[in-house]
Amino acid sequence: MALAEGEIAQVRAATDIVALIGEQVALKKTGRRWTGLCPFHGEQTASFSVNAEEGVYYCFGCRASGDAITFVRETQHLDFMDAVRLLADRANITLHEDANAGPAMKDRHEFLSAMERAIEYYHQQLLDSPSARPAREYLKSRGINGDVARQFHLGWSPDDWDALMKAVPMSDKVLTGTGLGFTNSRGRKQDFLRARIVFPIYDVSGRAIAVGGRILPEAAANFRGDGRVEPKYKNSSETAIYSKRRTLYALNWAKDNIVKTDEIIVCEGYTDVIAFFMAGMPRAVATCGTALGEDHFRTMKNFAKRIVLAYDADQAGQSAAASVYQWEKQYEIDVAVAKLPKGTDPAELAQRDPEALREAIAQAVPFLEFRLSRVLDAANLATPEGRARAAELAVAVISEHPSDLVRDQYVMNIADTLKLDSAVLRPRVTDALRRGPRSEVSSPETPRVPPAQREALSRPGVAALKLTIDYRTLALARLVPEYFVDTVQRDAFEALLVNESVSQAANELLTRGDAEAAELLQQLATQEPLELSSESQYISDVTAQLVRSASRSALLDLERNLRSGESSAENVMTTIRDVRDRLEKLDSDEAEIAENELREWLQSLETVSES
Ligand code: ZN
Repeated sequence: MALAEGEIAQVRAATDIVALIGEQVALKKTGRRWTGLCPFHGEQTASFSVNAEEGVYYCFGCRASGDAITFVRETQHLDFMDAVRLLADRANITLHEDANAGPAMKDRHEFLSAMERAIEYYHQQLLDSPSARPAREYLKSRGINGDVARQFHLGWSPDDWDALMKAVPMSDKVLTGTGLGFTNSRGRKQDFLRARIVFPIYDVSGRAIAVGGRILPEAAANFRGDGRVEPKYKNSSETAIYSKRRTLYALNWAKDNIVKTDEIIVCEGYTDVIAFFMAGMPRAVATCGTALGEDHFRTMKNFAKRIVLAYDADQAGQSAAASVYQWEKQYEIDVAVAKLPKGTDPAELAQRDPEALREAIAQAVPFLEFRLSRVLDAANLATPEGRARAAELAVAVISEHPSDLVRDQYVMNIADTLKLDSAVLRPRVTDALRRGPRSEVSSPETPRVPPAQREALSRPGVAALKLTIDYRTLALARLVPEYFVDTVQRDAFEALLVNESVSQAANELLTRGDAEAAELLQQLATQEPLELSSESQYISDVTAQLVRSASRSALLDLERNLRSGESSAENVMTTIRDVRDRLEKLDSDEAEIAENELREWLQSLETVSES
């Protein structure tokens, strides 16, 4: 039996969290907060803090956090429903427990069922329709026969603008909610995919949530008359049931083998994933049209400790090293890279030489070793000058790793390889560390900020969240989700955006399993409120910093696309120039215009990358 969302909110609102916690902890009023000795860890000085207005608590010692329901669950070891029942009793509220889910839930069911019908339709088209013959032949040429097509429920979207809309009629709401179609300029409903092989995308529990479509090779050349190039892959955009940065293609099928082997293989495309399954390694997943990001790692760590990147060598080398090391540490995982022969992708190798593919996975090397070997492979080790140059590059790569123990072992390795004394290399690594990570994009100077606020500005995402909590109206007038590069911070901001209070926001995050973002909000809410002498100056400074870091990270993505040949050089160079220009103007009289333009640019990127 489910509890109605409204009733849970009612129970929460009716509970005085200070009185509730006060039954177990001696709370004292300090400023606008209540503090006391933490009931969750032993301590002598009070680091446990309660925010009565928001109804949340946070411990600065052990980081325990939550609301009234969490507190009851944790201290009395109850599950969610029983904790709500207990609090309801306490507040004299009668719960109407029934299976009648809220309207959002109903919509979700409707979207999921439409998605399932669409995928079934596409699948039958691929299996039976005469017009799908080229698709079947193409798949067969890649070693994908009928059985495999059935296993992955592959489909075919006919070469027609509304074949799906006719076969599976949808309301406007379902159309948007599934991303399966759109309303065209004539006001008619049109299919999202046309003349493409359909790869249905499932969530981890096996519910179809989105579709990816691959164009046939011969169609790619002459698909459009207007000279525009059709993308090879098209993924449905984000919807109420589909979040790209949380989704891994094929995890639903791969998870058993992943858990059994404690290893997860990450590749770039849907056909690569299928190739791994066919080569006897049914533990491969792929991202869905986005770079591998923190949310993916957070998901993967629940299933396996070892993550093997099976990318094309150049792609793997370009993964953001600093983030990978940070996630390795944070999520206690090991990231390794499979050394695939240059220029081959897993799908080709699986077809040509499956044994070599298995070998590449088994011999995958740690991420740092992989990056080092790329430097050394490219170097001329025959001359002293060549070896010295290689040493400089290697030192830069090694210095990116956060662990001194790891760094030192690699220093000894390269000293050996390069016939240098490790005592000469060590101070250089230390120097490189002090200089900080090499930035690929030149950074405009930091703005002039009062010292007290400078620390906050070094973490502009956190500062912006605190601002949103304390000065909601002011902050929401300036900030947008696209400004937040860090996914946890972005989740937290999005939750604040759609919920009126911090506790509602935190609850929504917890319901979605995003405990980290919820905890961040609870922590910020229990800190003393900001006291600003000039609110508008501070919010301008924070916004400018956020825009800067979001733009820089987007520029890095662009440069990556440029190197991998995904985007045309001319367009990208123009964009990069424009963006740098505006970044500089953020410090000038034209700051407001520059900020607006950068915001529009960042928001347009989101839409492009999702199509
Ligand atoms: Zn504590």
